[in-house]
Amino acid sequence: MCNTWQSGTRTLRLVQPLDTLGRPIRDLRISVTDRCNFRCTYCMPKTVFGQDYRFMDRKELLSFEELERVARAFVELGVEKIRLTGGEPLLRKEIEQLVARLGTIGGLDLTLTTNASLLARKAEALRDAGLDRVNVSLDSLDDATFRAMNDVDFPVARVLAGIDAAAGVGLAVKVNAVVKRGVNDAGIVQMARHFRRTGHSLRFIEYMDVGATNGWRLDDVVPAGEIVERISAVFPLEPVDAAYRGEVAQRFRYRDGSGEIGVISSVTQPFCGDCTRARISAEGKLFTCLFAVRGTDLRALLRGGANDDELREAIAGVWSRRTDRYSEVRTERTSRAPRIEMSYIGG
Ligand code: SAM
Ligand code: SF4
Ligand code: SF4
Repeated sequence: MCNTWQSGTRTLRLVQPLDTLGRPIRDLRISVTDRCNFRCTYCMPKTVFGQDYRFMDRKELLSFEELERVARAFVELGVEKIRLTGGEPLLRKEIEQLVARLGTIGGLDLTLTTNASLLARKAEALRDAGLDRVNVSLDSLDDATFRAMNDVDFPVARVLAGIDAAAGVGLAVKVNAVVKRGVNDAGIVQMARHFRRTGHSLRFIEYMDVGATNGWRLDDVVPAGEIVERISAVFPLEPVDAAYRGEVAQRFRYRDGSGEIGVISSVTQPFCGDCTRARISAEGKLFTCLFAVRGTDLRALLRGGANDDELREAIAGVWSRRTDRYSEVRTERTSRAPRIEMSYIGG
């Protein structure tokens, strides 16, 4: 595949790399911080990420200038979608300045995933910087359940206020809920009822064995098929065709036209065959799978004086050697293998 690119007065023809399974790079998730003000039990459990956990120093993080350079290199190699994530991305100081910088790269779908704790305060600045859309994580509408899941006693009402503030300034909102059996699955239908007719797309995510600290067990996973059945029994649903190759969520619409939901079935129906995602950690390591153990240090290249061609070549080389398909080969045994935490690699 080829991509034409304007560099000064030259028009470059760049080859877009395919990995060993023929997959292009289309999506880039950038973790802008490994810090978070929540301790969601399925992501950063307190017992591990307590007082003693070492988070990165500011100088270890890629600067906004470095992130823009990296983003441009990825776009030249085929990336069409960038999602800012973390940790909690709104904790990164002046994140709106990064949004504005990335907005200068044309033709990009730019979004941000957040726990919404700071969204009411930040929504307008993010919109003004050029952001179109936010993905808000909200696992339950039941206050006690939500406070227990975020494990910092954060109330549901403030997340809902964040969603309203975002919608109020014109940002499109998607709401993502991780479902864990016996913890929040009793509230699935309540979530569906609440977000029907709001225009906010609601997506349920199967609980995954990311990282090595959440004590994941297959029995804790509520299969996406069961989630759809439970909602459809109350609000009948029908499937919607995928909008594009590599769409992560399987979508369903309410038969009465009151909106749609999505399910992300990474455990029960893996979609590695269409996985076009790369991830950059906050300190600039490139990972080609959420379940990777090792990353490639792009920060060393950037700070070592690599030019844009060298940067692109390094990324293309890593991508063309990619063999990842973890979710297709997952077992209880592989889920106990060492790997990077999601708060570090970027969810
Ligand atoms: N802090 C932000 C947030 O929560 O939206 C962004 C980072 S968070 C790591 C990104 C997404 O990963 C969230 O939607 C979160 O629910 C999801 N996530 C974290 N741990 C997960 C797990 N074990 N299984 C499935 N999704 C998970
Ligand atoms: Fe923080 Fe997001 Fe992980 Fe929850 S899911 S601990 S909000 S990074
Ligand atoms: Fe992509 Fe890895 Fe997830 Fe498979 S397991 S969909 S390759 S990130």
